[in-house]
Amino acid sequence: MLKERRATGLLGGDVMGKKGFSFDIRIQIGAGAYVCGEETSLISSCEGLRGDPKNRPPFPAQKGYMGKPTSVNNVETFVAVNAVVDKGAGWFAELGSRGSAGTKLLSISGDCRSPGVYEFPFGITIKALLAEAGAEDAKSLQIGGPSGQMIGKEDFDRTICYDDLATGGSVMVFGPQRNILEVVDYFMDFFVEESCGYCTPCRVGNVLLKKYLENVMAGKAEPGDLATMQEIGESVKLASRCGLGQTSPNPILTTLAKFRSEYDALVKEDKDGFKPDFDISASTTDAKEIAGRGSAIYS
Ligand code: SF4
Repeated sequence: MLKERRATGLLGGDVMGKKGFSFDIRIQIGAGAYVCGEETSLISSCEGLRGDPKNRPPFPAQKGYMGKPTSVNNVETFVAVNAVVDKGAGWFAELGSRGSAGTKLLSISGDCRSPGVYEFPFGITIKALLAEAGAEDAKSLQIGGPSGQMIGKEDFDRTICYDDLATGGSVMVFGPQRNILEVVDYFMDFFVEESCGYCTPCRVGNVLLKKYLENVMAGKAEPGDLATMQEIGESVKLASRCGLGQTSPNPILTTLAKFRSEYDALVKEDKDGFKPDFDISASTTDAKEIAGRGSAIYS
């Protein structure tokens, strides 16, 4: 298809006969890892380097592919630009909701009768999209992929748009039979596997979060562990170098907020030798004095 367009003068040098106006498209297969979707990793990958994230600044718009200013966008955005050029900004702005013009492609999967890729105007409610996909009995939804947020029935009147439930396009549906913590564990497994290992908060923090979660699922956690999971999750988000680590604790943090009862039901009080009142900060005072510093997590 690209060859045909080059042959008819729609791509390549002097497009449509316009002297000096060159535009071409090259399709490149990515390296495959999740982190290669991060914009600076994507650029590294296109440059033939290992798909690792780069430090910012400089941002890609200043210094990107081969050191040149680079605009990184997804295909959906270019398609929207095409529609704006074709039908006008006014037409486009009438689609969608206030503050979120246009439409959104949503890939709906999981426990529903009609999974698939749907195009909805921004502003559609969760209830409406579940009805379209045949998932009226959904217990929860993961919005925005593994690093997005888990929502429950109390959020089903909310809308997909930039001001409310923003998403990259993935919607996973979980029916009433699903164990939420098993789903979260699966996502954390994924992030432990996909972390490139460059920075400590992401490399170590995600492993710690997974271990705490496994303890909860095995009925071995104590109430204080949930607060610790929250603190570790927030630290990983704050201190990680790229988008992967900055969002990887979301499955745990959003379910701690929205599905707390699922955790609480498995957390034990002071039985079987566990000590909910164990004060790790106080117990490490001597070690902190010897080291001359505290921990990133426990002051
Ligand atoms: S946040 Fe994770 S994926 Fe990103 S650079 Fe650090 S270790 Fe690598």
